[in-house]
Amino acid sequence: MRSTLRICYAFLSAVSLWLVMAPVGPAVADDAPNRILIEYDPPKNPAHQPLYEMIKEHRVLEKLQKIFSPLKLLSDVTIKATGCDGHVNAWYARPTLTICYEYLEEIRRDMPAETTAEGVTPIDGEIGQLFFAVAHEMGHGAFDLFDTPIFGRQEDAADNFATYVMLQLGKSDARRLIGGAAYSYMKYLKQPTVTAPLKDFSDVHGSPQQRFFNLICLAYGADPVLFADVVEKKMLPEHRARGCKYEYGNVVWAFHELMIPHLDQGLAKEVMDKTWLPPENPVQGSGSRALQ
Ligand SMILES: [Zn+2]
Repeated sequence: MRSTLRICYAFLSAVSLWLVMAPVGPAVADDAPNRILIEYDPPKNPAHQPLYEMIKEHRVLEKLQKIFSPLKLLSDVTIKATGCDGHVNAWYARPTLTICYEYLEEIRRDMPAETTAEGVTPIDGEIGQLFFAVAHEMGHGAFDLFDTPIFGRQEDAADNFATYVMLQLGKSDARRLIGGAAYSYMKYLKQPTVTAPLKDFSDVHGSPQQRFFNLICLAYGADPVLFADVVEKKMLPEHRARGCKYEYGNVVWAFHELMIPHLDQGLAKEVMDKTWLPPENPVQGSGSRALQ
């Protein structure tokens, strides 16, 4: 489901928490890691051919497959890039996580032309948006396949799942991914007053503005030093910022109670120890875009 898109593992201390809080003894029966499959559908629209070749060349789905490999899913999930007949979308519906070429095209079109005032580079804007969307959908998949109880809207929980995963990667990757994900909402923040049709408030997703503040609040709550600028630059109001460590703590607790029993600890450590993003300013023509 889309967001602004309408589309619909913090650092060293949390890394150790992840491992320390791993359950002792046998985990869940009949599940196993590496049940994520991938599929690049040849595009139906010839205009998507370069995009198809680019993501295949950079093994984007293989990298997403690896990042989510610690989830010991109860059945296979296929991450599929495909043409969606003009629909700009990404969604999870058992057993498939679909990413439309149209959505990838929109991300590339909307990526910043140059580094933004907030420090989001074009590459970070592109990868952060894609990663947040895929991780959000993988959250839906995890909730589905692990039968996870959720208080509140699943869309908010999926955003929190995605944000938590980004924050568990190395500091540099986490910072850049959060910036890129937040970038997708920034166009909705230009005016201090927002006018919206009443029906928008009935949507299963939060508004883009709420999703932006929730995202950066969790990031600030996870690491108020790394993300100090979100308060200093007044992107996150101080009255919200004061409680963000508690908001992040709630997500940490939920993840550890509900997801840790379904994680392969060895694979999770491999994923967290690796640097996934390419250099922020690759040499022109080096072709080092997308996840490393
Ligand atoms: Zn969703």
